Amino acid sequence: GNLTLTMIKPTAFNKNYTGAILKMINEAGFTIKAMKLTQLTPQQAGTFYAVHKGKPFYDSLVSFMSSGPLVAVLLEKENAVEEFRNFIGATNPEKAEEGTIRKLYGTSLQQNAVHGSDSDENAKVEAEFFFSKLERF
Ligand code: ATP
Repeated sequence: GNLTLTMIKPTAFNKNYTGAILKMINEAGFTIKAMKLTQLTPQQAGTFYAVHKGKPFYDSLVSFMSSGPLVAVLLEKENAVEEFRNFIGATNPEKAEEGTIRKLYGTSLQQNAVHGSDSDENAKVEAEFFFSKLERF
């Protein structure tokens, strides 16, 4: 799979990290195929994170991800899902490698700056969640 979906999460967006994060993503060789600034309703955030339903952090995550604007970006690169997950660093910013987006711009396990699709199948589902065919290039 050559596509992955990322979100610049509300805290990172509100801190004006969007430009710096997109610069890092482009410099790492990912190409932007679609992008939008939007705010999810709690219901939409719940749908997006449906796989985590029932986990202790689900309600808080849904609340956070619908708390303000986020930037959704569809990215292309060879082996995009795995490459992007390695590139952004560990889920917990405290455990992420120096110089990664999550280390630089994440502030907590929940507010870890960016999302990255975890499989080719989910990348497709997530791309269709945010973008119509006319919004993809
Ligand atoms: P993402 O799916 O956002 O790329 P991930 O695959 O590294 O992250 P997941 O386990 O899929 O992590 O969790 C999804 C998101 O839920 C994480 O990015 C994080 O914001 C939040 N999260 C995960 N585990 C916890 C936890 N134990 N406490 C609070 N928030 C959590």
